[in-house]
Amino acid sequence: MEILSDIVNKYSKDIILSTQELIRINSVNGNPIEGKPFGKGVDDALQYVISLGKSFDLKTHYYEGYYGYIEMGEGDELIAILAHLDVVPAENPDRWKYPPFGGEIHDNKLYGRGALDDKGPLIAVLYSMRAIQEAGLPLNKRIRLFLGTNEETNWQCIEKYLQVEEVPSYGFVADSDYPLINAEKGLLQLKLSIKGGASFILKGGNAFNSVPDKCIYIKDDTSTEFTGSTAHSAKCWEGENAIVMAAIKLYDEGVNNKLIDFIYNELKDDCYGTNIYGIFEDIESGRLTVNISKVNISEKVQEIFLDIRYPVTKSKKEVIQLLENKCSLYEIVIDEMDTLPSLYIPKDHFLVKILREVFHSETGLDSQPISTGGATYARALKNFVAFGPLFPGHKKMAHQQDEFIDIDILIKNAHIYSKAIATLGMDNKISVNKA
Ligand SMILES: [Zn+2]
Repeated sequence: MEILSDIVNKYSKDIILSTQELIRINSVNGNPIEGKPFGKGVDDALQYVISLGKSFDLKTHYYEGYYGYIEMGEGDELIAILAHLDVVPAENPDRWKYPPFGGEIHDNKLYGRGALDDKGPLIAVLYSMRAIQEAGLPLNKRIRLFLGTNEETNWQCIEKYLQVEEVPSYGFVADSDYPLINAEKGLLQLKLSIKGGASFILKGGNAFNSVPDKCIYIKDDTSTEFTGSTAHSAKCWEGENAIVMAAIKLYDEGVNNKLIDFIYNELKDDCYGTNIYGIFEDIESGRLTVNISKVNISEKVQEIFLDIRYPVTKSKKEVIQLLENKCSLYEIVIDEMDTLPSLYIPKDHFLVKILREVFHSETGLDSQPISTGGATYARALKNFVAFGPLFPGHKKMAHQQDEFIDIDILIKNAHIYSKAIATLGMDNKISVNKA
């Protein structure tokens, strides 16, 4: 392994350069064009990484613009590392300190959309594979780096992959936090509605996965705007929900509406939904959260949208049942809009043990696994965990203005990933069937 880390160090400059070049390709999902289902930018980024893999003499595969992969090693068993090339848009580019698609380096930080999520980590994994190849380590498994193109929106890339390709036995997603995430809460996105319209307008929120910071109430040509603060739905306690603010105000003013009553009586600003669920939690992943993501009340419709993240040992059925018990009191109908199963890999699973050991030996840091309400690719597959690239206590720059990755952290990631991949790929004793 000593040699491996020397080789990684030798490629430090190239890792930085390739990440810069990749950031300069604007790969926000765009309109489909022929053979490029997510637009030209994403496809250019995919082609760039594939040709890089080719130039390292690794096996490469490109599938109709949906995904690609880069592979090495021999053996029956297939291990995969999942990463993605698409990025979220850079809102207000002129407010960024440095151009979002510039890949500029300042104060030892590499700036740009995708630097951390997920281009830097993807390049770190690719150079890890190059280093393992150059070190001549005897892999007895195949290692495949999956190149996703549609992670930030609909996961069509990984869905297509699972329809067409060999399913890997186990692996990790390089698109989250260290030390390691072995529990991701179940996700449930619902529409709650009442028949008919109302005598006023209430509108707010736009995406399921965020706490709405704006809500507008209109009655008799007078409008009132409510301003809260946004946060990710998985951490809704960090935000201030503008829809809840509006509902409290309307209730206090005596506005007669069942959805407003429901929000006021059953949810208010309690993002744990205690009135509905009590203390609904487990030690593996923590407490259920519920966020009112959107409201749409007008003369024609009355609906609110909930984003619920529930503990890994609880069932979706139970979550819906408890909600239904309350909703029926208000004549509210529940429609399921989207759902993702939870993910949980026990701490004594060999994959968790190996990755923890690698992280600890490379950093000296505590490797206790963590749980999250967020969703990574890991739950699209069995026996997957999320592993890096963000260090505990470091600023979460993914999806933020001025996104960056610290240069030393980028290289550290290549060291951790190379050791992790080499250890998984050379181990004779472990097999997913025996785990
Ligand atoms: Zn990501």
